[in-house]
Amino acid sequence: MRPPSKRVKISDNMALDDRQDRYPFPEIEARWQRVWADRKQFKVTEEPGRPKYYCLEMFPYPSGRIHMGHVRVYAIGDLLARYKWMRGYNVLHPMGWDAFGLPAENAAIDNGVHPAVWTYENIDNMRTQLKRMGISYDWDREVATCDPAYYKWEQLIFIRMLDRGLAYRRRSRVNWCPSCQTVLANEQVEAGRCWRCDSEVTIREIDGWFFKITEYAQELLDWCDRLPGWPERVLTMQRNWIGRSEGAEFTLPVAGRPDLGITIFTTRPDTSFGMTYAVLAPEHPLVDRLAVDDQEKGRIDRFRAEVARETEIERLATDRPKRGLRLAARAINPFTDREIPLFLADYVLMGYGTGAIMAVPGEDQRDWDFAKAHDLPIVPTVKRPEGWQEDQAYTGDGVKINSGFLDGLDIEAAKRRAIDWLVARGLGQGKVNFRLRDWGISRQRYWGAPIPVLYCERDGMVPEREENLPVVLPRDVQISGKGGSPLAEVASFVNATCPKCGGRARRDTDTMDTFVESSWYFLRYCSPTYDRGMFEPDAAAYWMPVDQYIGGIEHAVLHLLYARFYTKVLRDLGMLKCDEPFQALLSQGMVIKDGAKMSKSKGNVVDPDDLIRRYGADTARLFSLFAAPPEKDLDWNDRGVEGASRFLNRVWRFVHAHLAELNGAAAGRGAAEGEPSGSEARTFRRTIHETIRKVTHDIEHDFHFNTAISAVMELVNALHEFERASLDAMPRAERAALLREAVEATLLLLGPVSPHITEELWAALGHRESVFKQPWPQPDEAALARDEVEIVVQVDGRVRGRLTAGVGAREAEIRERALADGKVRPWLDGRQVAKVVVVPGRLVNIVTRG
Ligand SMILES: [Zn+2]
Ligand SMILES: [Zn+2]
Repeated sequence: MRPPSKRVKISDNMALDDRQDRYPFPEIEARWQRVWADRKQFKVTEEPGRPKYYCLEMFPYPSGRIHMGHVRVYAIGDLLARYKWMRGYNVLHPMGWDAFGLPAENAAIDNGVHPAVWTYENIDNMRTQLKRMGISYDWDREVATCDPAYYKWEQLIFIRMLDRGLAYRRRSRVNWCPSCQTVLANEQVEAGRCWRCDSEVTIREIDGWFFKITEYAQELLDWCDRLPGWPERVLTMQRNWIGRSEGAEFTLPVAGRPDLGITIFTTRPDTSFGMTYAVLAPEHPLVDRLAVDDQEKGRIDRFRAEVARETEIERLATDRPKRGLRLAARAINPFTDREIPLFLADYVLMGYGTGAIMAVPGEDQRDWDFAKAHDLPIVPTVKRPEGWQEDQAYTGDGVKINSGFLDGLDIEAAKRRAIDWLVARGLGQGKVNFRLRDWGISRQRYWGAPIPVLYCERDGMVPEREENLPVVLPRDVQISGKGGSPLAEVASFVNATCPKCGGRARRDTDTMDTFVESSWYFLRYCSPTYDRGMFEPDAAAYWMPVDQYIGGIEHAVLHLLYARFYTKVLRDLGMLKCDEPFQALLSQGMVIKDGAKMSKSKGNVVDPDDLIRRYGADTARLFSLFAAPPEKDLDWNDRGVEGASRFLNRVWRFVHAHLAELNGAAAGRGAAEGEPSGSEARTFRRTIHETIRKVTHDIEHDFHFNTAISAVMELVNALHEFERASLDAMPRAERAALLREAVEATLLLLGPVSPHITEELWAALGHRESVFKQPWPQPDEAALARDEVEIVVQVDGRVRGRLTAGVGAREAEIRERALADGKVRPWLDGRQVAKVVVVPGRLVNIVTRG
């Protein structure tokens, strides 16, 4: 196990005036958790014909303990799940474990515990913790991705993807984390550092497997416009990551070498006349053939070695000098028919576009910097605005100059004309390019799903036969964390039989990126024990897509993009009938304390176990939902927890203090019984139903759980006031019925937030059925109606007065009173009333003519 972390206890010196009065949450919470489990209350099956709601929180990595960030995201998910139960939906709300990954391996290195043992112990601990939170999971659907019965299906899909060319192997320069000793995908490199351990990433050239996500670039981009339930921020990050650009691809002839041509991509074909040199990536395959002699070959090799030490991030940084090597060979600009110099430079990457660019220093800043550094000519091709200082590249609008047949055109027209010109001469064509690159999935680590491929001396690379799956990860392995894949040392794993010829073959010893497992776990939940395929097609057809997904923004271009891609692949393999996995996404903010994200290294971690032991899960949940709107950061403060606890105690005490009266009352006053007679009673009843309306609205629109809870708190205040004021002022039966109506509404509205206490009090009111089997309360329109309303009076669209009128007042009466109103009349002086528009109950607009 990992060493226990330093944890901050919730301070002991907080004012706890009512500590003695604490309601007995430990017993209550344990009991209801048992009842829910015994009744299998949250177990679901497909019920065609009944509306479904698939509510999903991103599953955790089993690190061993849940933290406050988990509490927050699971409390949000549970609120929505329970709310939808009460609205009559068939709710799928599952939980599982993203169980492969490096920390298990590191724990094995540090403590000599096998990653499997470490992982499953952690899962047990975290499951216990989660159960203590009382979340409405269907635990029968629990899934752990390190289970061979799980990754078997991902190996099958790998083979099918291989068959379709969507998985392929190639040698490539990859991001390498020297500390994690593994390859990282581009999405896993943040500002040149490893997303997991923060080490500086280096570059290596190795063989590895890729998923062809680029094949789906356009579709992934197009669907960004068709996901209205996603935060715009996440969609923008995905659009930028996919990075579509339109331009032209064409070939530059090499002077004196008719056998060679350099293909370039540019987003600015209109600037071609300003191309004064061209640049190749040092890795470009043409470079060796361009070298004129051994001396130049040597220079090229030395230059490549220097560049190989830089990361991509460094190479692309705009603020550093541009390293370049001038070649003896020269290219020809087909637009001007002039010879131009050719360079190798570090700022051009092989993976982008074609690995070669035309350089237009007049209109591109990086080219400008390079041209200045290497004393190259600069030819502007766009007319500069008045007063422009010619000391940097110009990227703005303008008409074309120095550009032959393009002169006088604007940029867009010139782009089209330049492409037409290239096409007419057979030199090139218009082209769309993407920044997105294929997803490298090979990892040189042990604790992952084996790649189901073998290498045979006779047949070369051969996929494992589908009937031989899963390729099980062997248990006996030495994990040192140093150099190469640990699986390569396991002879019984490596040495296998070729599925094709029956001869000797070696297994691939890399494992898959754990993001492959998380790209489809939501599908496995639909039929977690199905053994004839990845998922049961009818179950997936019923449950998918996920209606509400909840998880952190840090996954915007990682998991959330991969899962979209994988879903589309499964669709195209004919397995799934849905285009997108997640209908709606809620990205919750972080939990911060003392101005920083809670983290062990900062020593500002609050342990959910302490919190729950001391205040109960209901308080922990209430606090985390009340303290901030879900998409904002939640600033931890002890007083807020204390306040949440006091509120629940107050509800508890009220119900128990009035139990006899409440239980003597007829349940559920309805509109049929008529409105109560007194104005105070009517006002109170309106408050109850306004609260129901507001809470429903706040949950449904933008997930404003904090304001919803605040409305329930106000209702409880009103309840206390009404109780005092009505004691001797109204008939006992009427008072009891109203108190009961208010208490029941409070419990129903609060149920999804703090489920244990509400179940307990609901039962205390004599109900036999769970509060979560009740329909969500509906506001009673009769109770909402006011006796009088305020009506705004406008003259020509401007507010000039206000009237108070009876709710039932006729239009003619309102019109007459508006025209006669003392504040309105002066605005009508000397003008003719052309029209009077009356919107009943809201406003009068008087239109005049002068
Ligand atoms: Zn690392
Ligand atoms: Zn073979």
